[in-house]
This record gives sequence, structure tokens and C-alpha cells, in this order.
Amino acid sequence: MDMMTDQITPPGRAIINRCGSCGGTGRAGTSTCFDCAGTGWHLWKACPRCGDIGWDGLGDGEYACRLSCGYRWAEDNPAWQAQRRPDGLQPYSA
Ligand SMILES: [Zn+2]
Ligand SMILES: [Zn+2]
Repeated sequence: MDMMTDQITPPGRAIINRCGSCGGTGRAGTSTCFDCAGTGWHLWKACPRCGDIGWDGLGDGEYACRLSCGYRWAEDNPAWQAQRRPDGLQPYSA
């Protein structure tokens, strides 16, 4: 399974946006930004097939893209597992 996961470069179909609360710095004053857990980024996971972020959790590690393509996938789907923050993506500093 790890080898399959490695074939898809993170973040896959996920959408990554700079955190609007902290401007991407990951800091809120002297503390860690609550909204992005200090990463500076928000990652919106998307349907592995069509890329729609309007999916539903069905429980038991299953998900469904109900509004768009109707695809169903499990937690261990490689295209789903790849949807994470890419290595080396650091909080914004400037
Ligand atoms: Zn933030
Ligand atoms: Zn879909």
C-alpha cells in the first residue's frame, strides 16, 4: 500500500490555501494559529475522482462524492491518502 501511495504526489486532488486567519504564518500573536494548527495552510480534501470538495463521510472509513460524480472510496484509497500537505511546505514568512 505504501508503494501505491507514493505514486501520487501530495497533495493529489486536495486544494491548499494559505490560512486566512494568520495570513499563512501559522502564528496568532505569540501562540500557534488555532485555525491551521500552526501550519499556515488549510488543506481541503477532495473527491479522488473529480476533485469536488463537497464529499460526505459515510462512517466506517468510507466516503462518497454525492453531489458530483457519485464516487465512493475508502480511507485507504491511495488517491485519498495522498491528499496531505506536501513535505517541505512551510508557513509563510514575509
Ligand atoms: Zn492559521
Ligand atoms: Zn466526485
